[in-house]
Amino acid sequence: MKKRVGLLYGGKSAEHEVSLLTATAVSKAIDYGKYEVHPIFITLDGQWLRGPQLTKPVESVEQLQFTREENSPNNIAEFILDKNMQAQFDVIFPLLHGTNGEDGTVQGLLEVLNFPYVGNGVLASAAGMDKVVMKQLFSVAGLKQVPYVYFIRKEWEDNQKAIIEKCENALTWPMFVKPANLGSSVGISKASNGEQLIKAIEFALQYDRKIIVEQGIEAREVEMGVLGHNDPKVSVPGEIKPVTEFYDYDSKYKDDSTELIIPAKISSAVEEKMRKMAIDAFKILDCSGLVRSDFFVTDNDEVYINEINTMPGFTPVSMYPLLWQHTGVSYPQLIDTLIELGIERYTEKQ
Ligand code: ADP
Ligand code: MG
Ligand code: MG
Repeated sequence: MKKRVGLLYGGKSAEHEVSLLTATAVSKAIDYGKYEVHPIFITLDGQWLRGPQLTKPVESVEQLQFTREENSPNNIAEFILDKNMQAQFDVIFPLLHGTNGEDGTVQGLLEVLNFPYVGNGVLASAAGMDKVVMKQLFSVAGLKQVPYVYFIRKEWEDNQKAIIEKCENALTWPMFVKPANLGSSVGISKASNGEQLIKAIEFALQYDRKIIVEQGIEAREVEMGVLGHNDPKVSVPGEIKPVTEFYDYDSKYKDDSTELIIPAKISSAVEEKMRKMAIDAFKILDCSGLVRSDFFVTDNDEVYINEINTMPGFTPVSMYPLLWQHTGVSYPQLIDTLIELGIERYTEKQ
C-alpha cells in the first residue's frame, strides 16, 4: 500500500515563496511508486486550499498555487480528518518556513488532531523560531555564542535612548539587528553606528514586536545538518560564502553567486567541536527529524553557535539537502527518512 502524504506548503509567512520552491522540488523528487501525494496549499493570507492529487512532478510553482477548489473544506481540521474523523493521509509533511508553520503553530494543530507529521514538534519549533528563547536555551547547554540584547516594541517606544545605551554598553560595533521570530534574513540589518542602529531597529520592528541586537562577528559561516530522532546523526560541514556584506535574503534565494563549499575546509578539531555543539543544540531544544545548525568559525578556530533552523531551506540546491548528499544520503532518500522519522515519533508517543 502506498503511503498517503499530505504536502503542506505556502503559508502565512514572509517565507511563503521559499516554501513554494521547496514544495516544487519535493514534488520532483518524491517516489510516486511509494507515496500518494496530496497537496495542501496555504495562501499568503492564511486560507487552506486542497489541490488535486499529484501523480507526477509539477513543472512550475504556479501549478501548486490553487485557487479555491470545490473540494476544499471550510474547516481546517477537515483537511486532516474527514467528517467521520477518519484520517485523510498517513502523514503530513509540513514544508513551511517561518511564522505559522515552522514556529510550532501548525505542529500544535496536528498534535491536537493526534496526527503524524514530519519534522520538529511544538516545543522545538517554537523555541527555534524565537531567537531570544533559542539563545537562552543555548546558554543553559553551555554553548558559546555572541553577546546580545533584546527588547519589545513597547520598551523601544517608551525609551529609545535607554535601549541604544544598553546596546552600546553591552555590545561593540557592528551590530546585527533582527526580528526575534523570523528566518531567511528577512528584517535583518547590520548597523555600524547609532544612526544606522535606530534605522535597523525601526525596520526590524515592521516584522516583529520583539527585537534582538547582536554583536557582529568577523567569522566564516559553517553549517551542519542533523537528522534523526532519539539518536540523531550529523552531516559533513558546509561553508557559505556570500558575496554580499552578509547572507541576506537575496543572496539566499535570488542570486546564485553565494558559494557553498562542501565539505567546509575546517580542522578536524573544529569539526568535532561543531558536531558536539550541533547535537547539544538538537537535544536542548528537544528537536526531532531535521535541524540545520549554523555556526560562526573565527580565524583562530573559535566556534560560536549562531542559530538552528527547524525547517531549513529544503530544495535540492539548499545547504541542508546538499550536506546530506555529501554525507551519502540523496534528496529522495532524505525525504523517505524524514517521513519514516515522523511516523516513528508519532508511534513512540501512542
Ligand atoms: P536567519 O534566521 O534569518 O537566517 P541569522 O541569525 O542566521 O538569521 O542571520 C542571517 C545572516 O546575517 C547570517 O547568515 C550572517 O550572514 C549574518 N549575521 C547574523 N548575525 C550575525 C552576527 N552576530 N555577526 C555577523 N554576521 C551575522
Ligand atoms: Mg534562521
Ligand atoms: Mg540563518
